[in-house]
Amino acid sequence: MRPTAAHLDLEALRHNFRLAARLGGGGRTLAVIKADAYGHGAVTVARALADLAPAFGVACLEEAVALREAGIRTPLLVLGGFRDREELREAAARRLWLMLESGEQVEELLAAAPGLPGAVGVWLEVETGMHRLGLPAEQLASCYRRLRACPAVAGEVVVATHLACADDPEDPMTARQLARFRAALGGLDAPASIANSAALLAFPEARAHWNRPGYLLYGNSPFAKAHPAAAGLRPVLSLRSRIIALRRVAPGEAVGYGASWRAPRPLRLATVPVGYADGYPRTAPSGTPVWVAGRRAPLVGRVSMDLITVDVTDVPEAAVGAEVELWGAHLSVNEVAAAAGTIGYELLVRLSPRVPRLPLPARS
Ligand SMILES: *Cc1c(COP(=O)(O)O)cnc(C)c1O
Repeated sequence: MRPTAAHLDLEALRHNFRLAARLGGGGRTLAVIKADAYGHGAVTVARALADLAPAFGVACLEEAVALREAGIRTPLLVLGGFRDREELREAAARRLWLMLESGEQVEELLAAAPGLPGAVGVWLEVETGMHRLGLPAEQLASCYRRLRACPAVAGEVVVATHLACADDPEDPMTARQLARFRAALGGLDAPASIANSAALLAFPEARAHWNRPGYLLYGNSPFAKAHPAAAGLRPVLSLRSRIIALRRVAPGEAVGYGASWRAPRPLRLATVPVGYADGYPRTAPSGTPVWVAGRRAPLVGRVSMDLITVDVTDVPEAAVGAEVELWGAHLSVNEVAAAAGTIGYELLVRLSPRVPRLPLPARS
């Protein structure tokens, strides 16, 4: 078998969830597992958290249906709401929860309610500054009251908002959004939900009845800069491979496509079978760190579709078959992402289906 695989530490996942739940205080923790659980595999993650998480968040109806078909019975919140009446009927038949984003969606649900095959749970997103989705604050109270009175709406109606800048604790935007949210809630006695991963870690005042962490569950810091609040997280996914070839190159010799990189001195190079077809970013420049047999070594030359080359001149343990980690437990995905000009979120969700996910079972 090709030695390139994503090793999943499900014990670390459960550790991170418990840490999020503790940070949430009395609030409940909706585990966000959209985009195939940030590339980790939504069914695997949902099963591993089934006895801990009171609800999961997904991006769209298709993701919710796939989890139901795989036998996941935990409540599922569709963060993108519904697109048309057909989706609304399907959501009601499956007793899903929907995040509603506009007055039009609220009207559509109220109009369709008498004919629905079941009741849906409703979260109402209110606009506080992201300017992407969300109900204008002045429409909140009347929408909330009418939804509460609607027999096709099951249980409580949660009022939510989404923060634009929580990954930078210095940014005054978060305080402004929190103030707008409190003003919008006014006298409504509604359960609230504000915090994503970064807010849960850095803004205690954003904690509410429900918190919605995603990225932190997978064990990586959601902050743009290093932040001590993220210190207790344990990376869940380690992208690993093995050295398949070694060679020596003389000074001035070129390495890889385009012959764009030349050895500045005599080097020992390792070839590793991972490339951009696996989701390792082609934009990673020479110098991007790679973990090889216990040490950090620099990537050299262009990333190919299926291969990379690493300068292991200073890694005497680097033999054919030696273990390589592209990111994970020994090397933060955020660091590799920063070198490649992106964020860890993107590297995780772009990990290709070609890479087998190998779950290491949790002990409990
Ligand atoms: C993706 C998402 C989250 C989780 O964000 P993280 O930064 O991964 O914690 C929370 N709420 C909403 C509405 C989202 O779309």
